[in-house]
Amino acid sequence: MKKENTMRQKIRNTIIFIVFLSFPVILNYFSPYISMNGAFEGIISGSLLLFGILFVSSLLIGRAFCGWTCPVGCFQDICARINNKRRPKHHWIKYLVWTPWFIFIVFGFVRAGGIKKIHPLYMTENGISVSDPMQFVTYFTVLFVFLILALAAGRHAFCHYGCWIAPFMIFGRKTRNAIGWHSLQLQANPESCIDCKTCTKNCPMSIDVWHQVKTADMEHGDCILCGQCADNCKQGVIGYAFGSRKSSQKN
Ligand code: SF4
Ligand code: SF4
Repeated sequence: MKKENTMRQKIRNTIIFIVFLSFPVILNYFSPYISMNGAFEGIISGSLLLFGILFVSSLLIGRAFCGWTCPVGCFQDICARINNKRRPKHHWIKYLVWTPWFIFIVFGFVRAGGIKKIHPLYMTENGISVSDPMQFVTYFTVLFVFLILALAAGRHAFCHYGCWIAPFMIFGRKTRNAIGWHSLQLQANPESCIDCKTCTKNCPMSIDVWHQVKTADMEHGDCILCGQCADNCKQGVIGYAFGSRKSSQKN
């Protein structure tokens, strides 16, 4: 399918690709191991700090981080050129990874006697994650795992099945919705929809966007606010807005 190549998507692709190129530098700030290791020493590491920041940011901008700046998301977009099969089910699998890991972090801080310090460069003393040849082995092993998962299970499989960062932002969104805060979200005007389902076909997170448009509820825990549904809809049905969940229908 030919995609509408809007300026917004060009900007998004450029940003996310630049972040992907910097992945060897920033890898440790996404590390579940470093966060856990730090917890057992009573240290809030750079990665745990980032996860906390992403939780707070999700109260205002949902999962826009995933759609606009996640290096793993960019890599999965590249892998989707080989296997673009939709993955609409079993999103709960990632909680099998996240829950025990998060419990270990809490346990680590309890065992260490609480939080002793915040150390953003913990286990990354020179600020660069991959700084010697052996670390490149780790780096390419990580990429290889993402590649195998994407090839075996389809588009953005890691987001659905393995990401330990997504749950922080999903909980943030649920908190925001429960409180009724205004935040960045999608809005739709169902009356202009011609049922072509191009939005659904183009959603990298395999969300049935057309169904959401029809039910006038654009909220979905897996939406990464990439805007591909909006930018591929020739009718201009979908757009960004800043509001509460109740206002997800365009006026
Ligand atoms: S791409 Fe636009 S017109 Fe087509 S189904 Fe989606 S919202 Fe409706
Ligand atoms: S629903 Fe739209 S904005 Fe959300 S992930 Fe799918 S394509 Fe991106």
